[in-house]
Amino acid sequence: MTNLFRFNDNFLLRKEGKTISKVWENYQPELVFWNQKKVTNDLEKQVSGRALLFSEIASFYPKNDVIKKIIELKPIIVPGVVSIKHKHLKTMLSLVFRDIFTLKSEGICLRCGSTNVKEIECVRCSSYCLSCRDCFMTGESTSCTPLFLFSSKGENKNRKALLSLEFSLTKAQQRAYDMAVNFVKEKHYDKALVYAVCGAGKTETVFGAIKHVLDKGGKVLYATPRRDLVKELSERFQKAFIDTDMLTLYGGSESKYSRADLVMATTHQVMRYYSFFDLVVLDEVDAFPYKGSKRLPKLVYRAGKKDSQMIYITATPDKEFIKSKLELITVPSRFHKYPAPEPELVKGSFRLLDKENFLDKLINYLGFSELPKELTRFFIHYGGKKPIFVFVPAISLIEPVTNTLRHLYPNLVIESISSKDQKRDKKRDYFLKKKIDILVTTTIMERGVTVSGVQVVVLFCHHKIFESRTLIQIAGRVGRKKEEPQGEVLFIGEKITPSMKEAKKTIINMNREAKRLGFLDY
Ligand SMILES: [Zn+2]
Ligand SMILES: [Zn+2]
Repeated sequence: MTNLFRFNDNFLLRKEGKTISKVWENYQPELVFWNQKKVTNDLEKQVSGRALLFSEIASFYPKNDVIKKIIELKPIIVPGVVSIKHKHLKTMLSLVFRDIFTLKSEGICLRCGSTNVKEIECVRCSSYCLSCRDCFMTGESTSCTPLFLFSSKGENKNRKALLSLEFSLTKAQQRAYDMAVNFVKEKHYDKALVYAVCGAGKTETVFGAIKHVLDKGGKVLYATPRRDLVKELSERFQKAFIDTDMLTLYGGSESKYSRADLVMATTHQVMRYYSFFDLVVLDEVDAFPYKGSKRLPKLVYRAGKKDSQMIYITATPDKEFIKSKLELITVPSRFHKYPAPEPELVKGSFRLLDKENFLDKLINYLGFSELPKELTRFFIHYGGKKPIFVFVPAISLIEPVTNTLRHLYPNLVIESISSKDQKRDKKRDYFLKKKIDILVTTTIMERGVTVSGVQVVVLFCHHKIFESRTLIQIAGRVGRKKEEPQGEVLFIGEKITPSMKEAKKTIINMNREAKRLGFLDY
């Protein structure tokens, strides 16, 4: 069956009676962009374990015999984009993604997994083609563009990877660390879930498993949807795995492709790998843009070899996912051994005033008939003493809330930050340096920010954007630092929603589990 898609069957290029040479001729305009500096002599080494468009291969192997050389390596060849009407659709899906699923779109990009494909008048083949609108910035994938999937060649050779941990693991981390090593040693399961409370030091728990796979000569991918996290973690990994060939890939990164044993990448960069890794670690799997997106996990999955193992790391796993067949590894306590702060749920009214009358009616701050006393106490207690995060569900609420707070607390430095904010990084920095007392924000700050001593209040918490997972992440901002391991979290909504209750319950349960296992000192 697979032979159908090998190049020498010409299946792809036979399209609508066009001869092979004619189609290849149409690639010529792109060859102008060949960058001579990147030329390689060892094509096989460059393409092994990767999924590449012809134009990408041509960019580092700009030789006349490139097509002949590619065929010699016997890659699987599929069109970049395939229509749902294609009679071999299912076979292609199972070949490329190892999964057959139904599509509601016109087609799917086999390169990046996007279903955002459109019919275009194609300059390459001068006919109508489906083109992917998601990955075209990095070379256009169309239904007349061949995508080559090269399996990685060669046996894994044993070696010794040096691992230097500059810190000691907590009991909770050590237990997870051992379980993860066991997972890759015993191979009873093909996936494991590291379910860690926010601030547990979850990354370190998989270092042992990674080392084990590297020792066996295997290749490891550490992928996360968050670019900032890739950058930060890559430094930590470089310090830990001193003598390991490492490659860091994220949008806008300097490093070019090279064969490496340990690859840190954003999930988008993973689309160029195929059947390459022995262990794939997927960190913050539920973070944007993963949430609700099915395509990126598919890409990460195909980057692994057929018999590879996967470790998912998250603080907020999907309930169904926990129940699936996997090795569950929990890290219920934070590295400083204090329990995670449990949120207080408050019911309060938020009838917002129109912007027009806003200043006139400031007396009705935020539209509250009066401020909930918990909120007043919160601001009086912490204002100017500890940094405060105020979360609101929408950008449109940022300004009125910020203005109200400024009016109420004129002595405090109150700023706002949103995804549309040009000075975002600067304000974030000021807040970290405690030059801002109160920072009003949307959920863009829900993760990845560690501010010492921060206290958190969520306004309009009844809003549907505040799912329990989001709320757990938000609550997880508090008490992360050893110097300030505790703090307060206030969820205020017009009603107490199931999400609010669930978030609180989850945090309480994790703390109980930590206590039961003797992981808490306080
Ligand atoms: Zn075309
Ligand atoms: Zn695409």
